[in-house]
Amino acid sequence: MANEKEVVQRDLIILGSGPAGLSAAIYAARANLNPLILTGMSLHGQAATTDTIENYPGFPEGVGGSELGMLFQTQAERFGAEVIMDYATSVDLSQKPIKIESYAKEYQCESLIITTGADPRKLGIPGEKEFTGKGVSYCGTCDGWFFKDKDIVVVGGGDSALEEGLFLTRFANSVTIIHRRDELRAGAILRKRAMEHPKIKFIWDSVVTEIIGNEAVNAVKLKNVKTDEVTTHDTDGIFIFIGHIPNSELFKGQIEMDQAGYIVTNGVMETSIPGVFAAGEITDPHFRQVITSAGMGAAAAIQATHYLENLEAA
Ligand code: NAP
Repeated sequence: MANEKEVVQRDLIILGSGPAGLSAAIYAARANLNPLILTGMSLHGQAATTDTIENYPGFPEGVGGSELGMLFQTQAERFGAEVIMDYATSVDLSQKPIKIESYAKEYQCESLIITTGADPRKLGIPGEKEFTGKGVSYCGTCDGWFFKDKDIVVVGGGDSALEEGLFLTRFANSVTIIHRRDELRAGAILRKRAMEHPKIKFIWDSVVTEIIGNEAVNAVKLKNVKTDEVTTHDTDGIFIFIGHIPNSELFKGQIEMDQAGYIVTNGVMETSIPGVFAAGEITDPHFRQVITSAGMGAAAAIQATHYLENLEAA
C-alpha cells in the first residue's frame, strides 16, 4: 500500500543521542550489535549546548560540548553504529518486538535503551511563552551572543544558574541572578566565582512573577517572598535555569517511573520491562553529569548485550 510506513528492524535501538545514548552506542557497536540511534530533536543532547566541559576526563584543557558530542558520534560510527536524525512519536513497549513510530517510519527492536534525557523546567508565568526567543532563554551558550553589552537577569540558585550566569558575563554588561532563597544551592567553586565576579549581582528571596515587553523583553516583575513587596526590574533578557523535566511522556503508563516522571532503573540499568534499559538524565535527577550519563549508557549497553545473547541462546 502506498501509505504504509517503511519498517526498520534491529536487535537494539537507542533513543537519544546525548552522552548516555552515544556511549551506549559505542559499547553496543563494539559488541557487533549494529545499533540504530534515533537522535531525537536535540542532536547530542543538552551537553552539546554547553560552551566548555571542564570535568570530562581526558580533556585537561576542557572540550566544547558540541565537539565532544561529535567525537562520541564519530567513535560510535567507527564501530558500525547507525545514527539517524529521526524523532519517535510513539512507542509500544507491550510486546516484542518493541515498536517505535516516527512520522515517516516504524522501527522494531528486541531490546531498547532509553536515553531521552530531560528538558529545562519552565517558570510558567505570564510572558514566558510569548517572549521565548525574544529575550527569554534557557541556554546561555546558544543565545548569550545576542545579549552583547545588555543587562540581563538569570533565574535560579543551582550550579546551572551560576555556571551559565558566569558564562553570560562574556557578553552582557551586567548579570543579575534572582534566587528565591537567600542561600545558593550551587557548589562552593561556582558560588565563589559568581560572588566575586564584578559583573554579577544578586537579588535574594525573590521570584519572577511576570515577564514584560513589547517586541522583546524589557522588564520583569519581582515579588519578594519574605516581604511580599512587588517591584519591576528593567532587563533586556531573562535566562531561566531552575532544573529539568524528564522526557518520559512517550513511555507514560508503560514503564515504572517515579513521581517526577524519571524512569526507574535498578543497579544494572534495567527498567520494569525485560529488554528495556534506561540511562542518563531520563533516569537520573541527581548526578546529571556527562561522565555519569556516559557511564550509565555503557552499562546499559553491556546489559542489553547480555539480554540479546540470552535470547539467542534460549
Ligand atoms: P537544581 O540544582 O535543581 O537547581 C535549581 C535551582 O532553581 C534551585 O536553586 C531552585 O531553588 C531553583 N528553582 C526551582 N524551581 C524554581 C521556581 N519555580 N522558581 C524559582 N526558582 C526555582 O538544578 P541545576 O542547577 O540545573 O542542577 C541540576 C544538577 O546538575 C545538580 O545536581 C547540579 O549539581 C548539576 N550540575 C552541575 C554542574 C557542574 O558541576 N558544573 C553544572 C550544572 C549542573 P532552591 O535552591 O530554592 O530549590
